[in-house]
This record gives sequence, C-alpha cells and structure tokens, in this order.
Amino acid sequence: MSSSKGYAALSSTTPLAPHDFTRREPLASEIVVDILFCGVCHSDLHMARNEWGNSIYPMVPGHEIVGRVSAAGSAVTKFKVGDIAAVGVIIDSCRHCPACEKGEEHFCKEGPTLTYAVPDRVDGSITMGGYSNHYVVDERFAHTVPANLDLAAVAPLLCAGITTYSPLRHWKVGPGMKVGIVGLGGLGHMGLKFAHSFGAHTVQLTTSLKKKEDALKLGADEVVLSTDPEQMKAHANSFDFILDTASAPHALEPYLGLLKQDATLCLVGLPEVPPSISPFALITKRISVAGSMIGGMPETQEMLDYCGDKGITSDVEVIPVQQINEAFERMLKQDVKYRFVIDMATL
Ligand code: NAP
Ligand code: ZN
Ligand code: ZN
Repeated sequence: MSSSKGYAALSSTTPLAPHDFTRREPLASEIVVDILFCGVCHSDLHMARNEWGNSIYPMVPGHEIVGRVSAAGSAVTKFKVGDIAAVGVIIDSCRHCPACEKGEEHFCKEGPTLTYAVPDRVDGSITMGGYSNHYVVDERFAHTVPANLDLAAVAPLLCAGITTYSPLRHWKVGPGMKVGIVGLGGLGHMGLKFAHSFGAHTVQLTTSLKKKEDALKLGADEVVLSTDPEQMKAHANSFDFILDTASAPHALEPYLGLLKQDATLCLVGLPEVPPSISPFALITKRISVAGSMIGGMPETQEMLDYCGDKGITSDVEVIPVQQINEAFERMLKQDVKYRFVIDMATL
C-alpha cells in the first residue's frame, strides 16, 4: 500500500476537500503514474453530487489523467519510468468477452471498471480518480501521448475527446455532411474540432449567444442560437447527424426537427433527468435517436495519435486544485472555456 492524497467529495452535499487515502502496490503488468494534469468533466460533478444515484463516498473524481510513469512492473512493455502516460474513464475490464477481445472494453459484458467510485477488480477496494497525486493502472488501460502536444491540453482528450471522436467516426462524419453539435462545453468544443477536422459542414448549436465568436474560431461553419425558433426554423430538415452533448435536461424535439429523413441524433450528454421523446417526431422522418459512451482502448489511442498528427488539443483553463469547487459552480453556469484542467503540482 502507498499513501496518496487528493480532493474528495465526502457526501453529495459537501464541497470537495483534501483527502488522504491508500492505493495498492502495482502488479507486474501495471504502472504508477505521477499525475501532472487532470481534466474536470461534467460527469465528475454529476457523480460528486450523486445525480445518477450510484455514488460511493468518499469519492475522488477525475478521469482525464496525464502524468509521468514513476514505476513499471516487470511485465510492462509499453512504458518505462519517465515516460508520459494518459488514463481515461475505464481502467480495467474482464479482458476476455467478445467486446474486450475487439478492443471495445467500454462495452465489456461483465462491466468495465471505472477510474473512480467502483470496486477495483484486483482487491475490491473502491477506485479513486485523478484529482490526486498518482494512479496505479494496467498498461493495457494507459495510453501513450504524442510528443508534440501540450500536456495540460491533452488531458481532456481522455474523456471529452474520445466521447466525441468515437460517435463521429462510427456515423462516418465527413465531407458532404451537415453536422450539428449541441452544447459548447468540454465535450462540445472537442466535437466541433473533430467534425470540422473530418471535413463536415459543422454547425454549433448553443444556448449561449456570447459563445458565437469562439465557436467560429473553434471551427464552426455556422452558429445557431438554439433558443431562437426563427434561427432553428431556417435549418429545419437539413442535418445528416447531430451530436448532443448538453449536460442539463432539455427537450429533444427542437433538434429532431433539424434532421433530414433517416438522419441520427446521438446523445452523449447525461442529464440528471432523462428526455422524453414523442414517437411522432421519429416516425415522420424515420429518424434514429442513438447514444454513445467514451471509446475502447485502441480507438482512444487512435484518437490521441490523430490529435498528434493534426495538432488538435482541448482549449483549457488551468486551475489550482483549491479552485475545484468554484470550477464546478462555473460549469453549472455554462461558463467553461472550454475545459478546466487541474495542475496537480498545486495539490
Ligand atoms: P460542460 O462542459 O458543462 O458542457 C455542457 C454544455 O451543455 C454547456 O456548456 C451548454 O452549452 C450545454 N447546455 C447546458 N444546459 C443546456 C440546455 N438546457 N440545453 C442545451 N444545452 C445545454 O459538460 P461536459 O463535460 O461537456 O459534459 C456534457 C455531458 O456529457 C454531461 O452530462 C456529462 O456527464 C456527459 N458525458 C458523457 C460521456 C459519455 O461517455 N457519453 C462522457 C463524458 C461526459 P451552451 O452554453 O453552448 O448551450
Ligand atoms: Zn468524463
Ligand atoms: Zn469484457
């Protein structure tokens, strides 16, 4: 056991506060990552406040981790001490079911092990996330980072990046398609960058008029204020694909109205209250409403390597860990530009 420190929620109603805990020693196939940066995902806020009803306390959130390898077990081949490693939302899985064998560990039939707030497969202890000084992880669930990228700006790729990259690839977003991104937050701004980079005509749908200039700079061909019925009407029945990253409860009908016949609205945002959908909104255009969750280990590495090739990273506001509660409050006010990242040297 090694002693660790981090920031934890002790209940759903208390602010995050300094917390000491222990981590187990690494196995032969595992590495110890000294955490340099950890992104702040809206899921951390949902989880810290038990908005999905499955939280376990004390909870150290954080699943957008970039750090330096400080120890490597005897069977580790991908990393050596001193290398940079990145860890995302899942840190283990059964490794033998059909999904795991395909490298889709996030769809593991026995359930993947999440980075925090679930029982560890090795010793049953509750996993503790990246708002902390180090992490112990099997090398299969850690990624290499292209050397040309800024490490603070890489951290959000491990969740916001792969969660938007994966569905855009799955639905084959590319040239000739008109694609909408709902919400310009952590996920949304990465979805915007990827859809633009894949060659689609990309439209940012936002409830925040003040984000228009930023959206254009981040790669939007057009920006639509989704609360303005006139602007929405001008785009009716014209989209091939829409990726919905909104974190708060919202009606889907206005976005379904934007889709062409046979087009897809893919949900990745996970509001506390699930949406209701009228079948009439679907049948009249044979529309699909789909969902997508992060991505498997091979696709996460593919995404990181793609970002290295294209020079894509997140737009980040680096904060000291002591400002985490303020960052949560700003996230709720949709005041994120466009991802908070904790500099773990401040711990
Ligand atoms: P975020 O940075 O807080 O961004 C969320 C954005 O949603 C806001 O900036 C806002 O953008 C938009 N929004 C908020 N309320 C809205 C409303 N009522 N109607 C329309 N848009 C609204 O959050 P995030 O970290 O990107 O996470 C977004 C969601 O994805 C969260 O629910 C999170 O838990 C979930 N998530 C899912 C996965 C997955 O695997 N599926 C992975 C990570 C996160 P505008 O100001 O532009 O309107
Ligand atoms: Zn996340
Ligand atoms: Zn499995």
